[in-house]
Amino acid sequence: MPSFLDQFKRQPRLFISLPTKDSNLYDESVLQIQDQIPVTGMNTMDELLLKTPDALFSGEATERLIRSCVPSIQDAWQLTTIDVDYLLVVIRIATYGETLQINANCPKCKEESAYDLDLHRYIEVYENKNPVEILRYNGLLLTIAPLTYRKSTDIARRTYINQKTIQNINDNLNLSEDQKDLQKQKMVEDILLMNVETIMSHVRSITDGENIETNFDEILKFVNNADRDLYQQITDTIDKINQKYEIPPMQCRCIECNTDFKTAINFDYSDFFVARS
Ligand SMILES: [Zn+2]
Repeated sequence: MPSFLDQFKRQPRLFISLPTKDSNLYDESVLQIQDQIPVTGMNTMDELLLKTPDALFSGEATERLIRSCVPSIQDAWQLTTIDVDYLLVVIRIATYGETLQINANCPKCKEESAYDLDLHRYIEVYENKNPVEILRYNGLLLTIAPLTYRKSTDIARRTYINQKTIQNINDNLNLSEDQKDLQKQKMVEDILLMNVETIMSHVRSITDGENIETNFDEILKFVNNADRDLYQQITDTIDKINQKYEIPPMQCRCIECNTDFKTAINFDYSDFFVARS
């Protein structure tokens, strides 16, 4: 029997649609509704999870946070990174409100002060733009979209392991310089392959209007066998998408000496999700 307490559960604070809403990227196994998606604030469990470094690193904390606060999303791993970034800001607003305090140092007098950032201004970066681009090539249409959150965390994890391994080779006193170079060569090759994989994972599908290919290996084979300018066009399209979502620096005026300056904004999770008094 349901408890009377059920009616006091968290209520949605905001209703949103995702930056990719016009792109038909997701079916119902990922997202149940396209518009007016309800978002609640975080609960205590969510906050605790965000203080677990391992869960943060693996992307697990983000996935669970989205599942908890945005129940219409069935599979956050399949969302684009742009949708995930947007959702994190929205969840932050739903939990703590629109103001985020950012610490910045004045370039002139070096005074460190806290500045209020209006997160609505940051939300604007995501609005009225489509993160999915269609690239035309020899009568074909290529759908270029940001990486899925799954792919993005996977690549970030492998890049981290790679860098660690290179570091370990460099620090190994038992190896000669030649041995080090030989071992590092393998890692450098891995990094190059991973870069190609990253670029190519943005190509979600290719269609001639009648048939559609979504298999990664088939798409990779096609691009490898195409003129090399196709790869360049894909890279340019990804740059174009990324530029749309660049976060403008925050405008500050030093409280001590009145100097105007700009500071870059990094939404570091540990910082971002801790309420400040
Ligand atoms: Zn100053």
